Amino acid sequence: MSAPSFGFRVVAVDGQARSGVLTTRKGEIPTPTFMPVGTQASVKTLTPAEVEATGARIVLANTYHLWLRPGPDVVAQQGGLSAFMRWPHTVLTDSGGFQAYSLAERRTLSDEGFVFRSHLDGSKRLLTPEEAMRVQGLLGSDIAMQLDVCPPATADRKEVEDAVAQTTRWASRSLAARDGAQALFGIVQGGVHVDLRRRHAAELGALPFDGLALGGFSVGEPPEQMHAALPEVVPSLDPARPRYLMGVGTPRDLLIAVLAGVDMFDCVLPTRNARNGQAITRRGALSIKQAQYRNDARPIDEECGCPCCRNGYSRAYLRHLFIAREILVLRLLSQHNLWVYGDLLSRAREAIASRKLAVFAREWLEPG
Ligand SMILES: [Zn+2]
Repeated sequence: MSAPSFGFRVVAVDGQARSGVLTTRKGEIPTPTFMPVGTQASVKTLTPAEVEATGARIVLANTYHLWLRPGPDVVAQQGGLSAFMRWPHTVLTDSGGFQAYSLAERRTLSDEGFVFRSHLDGSKRLLTPEEAMRVQGLLGSDIAMQLDVCPPATADRKEVEDAVAQTTRWASRSLAARDGAQALFGIVQGGVHVDLRRRHAAELGALPFDGLALGGFSVGEPPEQMHAALPEVVPSLDPARPRYLMGVGTPRDLLIAVLAGVDMFDCVLPTRNARNGQAITRRGALSIKQAQYRNDARPIDEECGCPCCRNGYSRAYLRHLFIAREILVLRLLSQHNLWVYGDLLSRAREAIASRKLAVFAREWLEPG
């Protein structure tokens, strides 16, 4: 049972990488694509038009936060997330499990779900696969995620196996409880164990999910372990469905994952780093507060087409704003960083179409 008007088609292949088009009830999204994170139904500091200008056509919102505040009933009465936040394009919601696991207090896990205390008011909450589907249905996202168990990087193999088994049981319950208007993705766990990942990908691939995600990467393991696992694991995810690598990562992580065949990404890194005064460039991170930029008239990156660089805001000015705690700098750096991500994946799509992704990736990762 697939959601109406949801679809995915591959348009070009280059090695393991592919470019494609994801279709939702809000329109088409060229892939590979990056989803800016709008935790509280807002991509921090930016208007929807500014987010759109970075090339994004899909954003992620966090079910856990919106469930606790303002509550899914409010969002439903305001017409669902897209109407509420004035974002006309696609919205994906996570299941809330990751935040319930990492933010909540006194959390316990059973076959039924997570019992935890809200980090806001201490109220006792039960997050089951069915509740995660009910809340996401009220939030009205276009793509929902199943509730999963995401073990930390420190988990031993037995803990990871248990998380995989629990996630599979919750996969079936999520599908049974789904809102038919939403697309629903399953989440493959397995840590850095390639055999567990492959087996779980086959188990979830046998279920009628609209897409398949990889959860449980970038949870504290050395990046090299993920980089080594991705080319081994991603091909085991059904190639007919979109593949989403959750919560990853740096431009390097994205390129390695695109080379392995991943279609969708989300990460707080570009927006969070912007608010910490860090601009992402091809030559690495540029920390705008450093004294070396005090009198630097150059934009962050002379080759960047983002509103911040194109309008000539100098490093000296941005540094001044940051030191003076002026909020404009947070907006400008957020625009720049999201632009870098959008531009990176737009160029990757072009490179896949001309079967030159490996060359493109090498040039991006090792600029002259
Ligand atoms: Zn820029």
